[in-house]
Amino acid sequence: MYEVGTTVPVGRITFTIERYKPREDLLDRKSCVHEESGCLLWTGALDRDGYGLASLEGRTFRAHRLSYETRVGPIPEGMQLDHTCERRDCIRPEHLEPVTNFENTVRRFLRQGATRERAEELATQELDRMAESRKADRYAREQAAAAGIRKGMLVRDGRKQPVWKVLEFFTPTVGADVMLVVKPADGETPRRLVELKRARIVEMVAE
Ligand SMILES: [Zn+2]
Repeated sequence: MYEVGTTVPVGRITFTIERYKPREDLLDRKSCVHEESGCLLWTGALDRDGYGLASLEGRTFRAHRLSYETRVGPIPEGMQLDHTCERRDCIRPEHLEPVTNFENTVRRFLRQGATRERAEELATQELDRMAESRKADRYAREQAAAAGIRKGMLVRDGRKQPVWKVLEFFTPTVGADVMLVVKPADGETPRRLVELKRARIVEMVAE
């Protein structure tokens, strides 16, 4: 067994034994410097939002988060990484700043040209809407449980919206009749969003 730092001649080539660093190796191998901006751009796969995807030891990570955690340290609990260079495929740690969800949302509106005051207003509205939607989800589940319906799968009705939360099915196959707890995507009050309906499974989506 060779020690780290040892030089080993093999035929006419000499190797130096280095520590195995899978994260660093992956990040180095799958990125390249963008000369103008100084960004370190991910050359591997991107997700649908344009963020780099890194596969390592059977798991998938967002490349910029992996880069930050490998080269800087843990991302503080509940914080998001803002790309200060505005390039989602950039993994340079110096271009990543941990910020709250609120600040991240505010900055998005600032970059679209809003004033700070207006950006904060819009961010507050957006986060409120998201919280409302989570509340509606929770309410749908509670209603279903109260009606003796067990949690099942998410089913789309074939269009993009709404996502129907199927909470019980008689035969869990495509084309089967089901009882649905319906939760339209728009922001009504949760109490009025929920109703039980008969419908047909069009497509199954894992929850
Ligand atoms: Zn960058």
